[in-house]
Amino acid sequence: MSTAVATRSQSWLHALWAAAGNNVKSTNQANVEQAGNPRRAGSLSVDEYAAGVLAGDRSILSRTITLVESQSRLHESQAQDVLQKLLPHTGKARRIGITGVPGVGKSTFIEAFGTYLLGQGCKLAVLAIDPSSTRSGGSILGDKTRMEKLSRDTRAFIRPSPTGGTLGGVARRTRETMLLCEAAGFDTILVESVGVGQNETALRSMVDYIMLLLLPGAGDELQGIKRGIVELADTVLINKADGDNKQRAEQARLEQESALHYQQPATPGWKTEVALCSALTGEGIPDAWKQIEDFYRKLEPTGTIAARRKSQSAEWLGDLIQEELRRRFYSDARVKNRLGEIQAAVQRGEMTPVRGAAILLAEHGLQQEFSPE
Ligand code: GDP
Repeated sequence: MSTAVATRSQSWLHALWAAAGNNVKSTNQANVEQAGNPRRAGSLSVDEYAAGVLAGDRSILSRTITLVESQSRLHESQAQDVLQKLLPHTGKARRIGITGVPGVGKSTFIEAFGTYLLGQGCKLAVLAIDPSSTRSGGSILGDKTRMEKLSRDTRAFIRPSPTGGTLGGVARRTRETMLLCEAAGFDTILVESVGVGQNETALRSMVDYIMLLLLPGAGDELQGIKRGIVELADTVLINKADGDNKQRAEQARLEQESALHYQQPATPGWKTEVALCSALTGEGIPDAWKQIEDFYRKLEPTGTIAARRKSQSAEWLGDLIQEELRRRFYSDARVKNRLGEIQAAVQRGEMTPVRGAAILLAEHGLQQEFSPE
């Protein structure tokens, strides 16, 4: 594991520790010295960040997001303090995910859909999860240049994907940014992700509703979508259903509908619909919004959405703990020292995997509760 990753993992643990009300002053102090520039992070106090976000001050919101995205230990600890303060003011937005393969029309769709939502009086924030993005090149999800009209509209708030690191790290920062946007008063949050499989699982773990955009055409292979992604969708939209594409779009709709017939719904009590739309002409956009409104109207009173959010939070907590435990185990010098030798013995069939695991865990100071014999 690289030092950068290790440092980040350590820092979220410290941040978590601080958020749990523990004193991490000494750690912060150490970091201040390492960072050599303690003033930058402290340019606003935790209370100033929180008050600015709550007042809907965009410049402070942006700075707080930068704080949340920072990989410095001091910033992370401060960001957790801000988030902890804002937590009672979060949770009121509709959290909507949008996914699909590159080229399917996500940014064109978000531009059209977002503009429509602003017209409906929504306070809109657009975020993204894109672990492959870098600021230096390539297309960045949520990039303002890809949503020119929307980004010029001062009513919308657009933030590109945080960069660098693992999918887990990027998703975590997007999730925290979503909470900040909620505290700042945005009532509709669109989270964009690229349809490559893993990203959708991360998306599913933070939104209430997922829209999957597909191309007009038949067959999953042609669509370039991984099996299982359609199962995560609350609505499937065949985009580019315009001009010469109309007939093929209808074919795709029929095919997806019959495939969905045999699948479990992504959300209990909700039937995933397949509809046609054109991000270019705007056809199907109002219906897509109507579906989302129906979803909340139907499932909010039953507690389904609240239950989903609770399990998302619990899962997230579990993931963070697992990630840290794994990191500590594999970075332990005693474990590293014996890992290769034990792996080889297990591979040669000379040692059972259970015994091998028990030895390594014991090296790390964890005695198994049962005998590996
Ligand atoms: P993304 O990579 O999924 O964000 O896709 P883009 O929004 O960048 O769109 C890819 C290409 O498809 C662009 O050339 C768009 O103009 C085009 N496109 C997007 N939506 C539609 C649509 O509804 N109809 C047609 N005909 N073209 C579209």
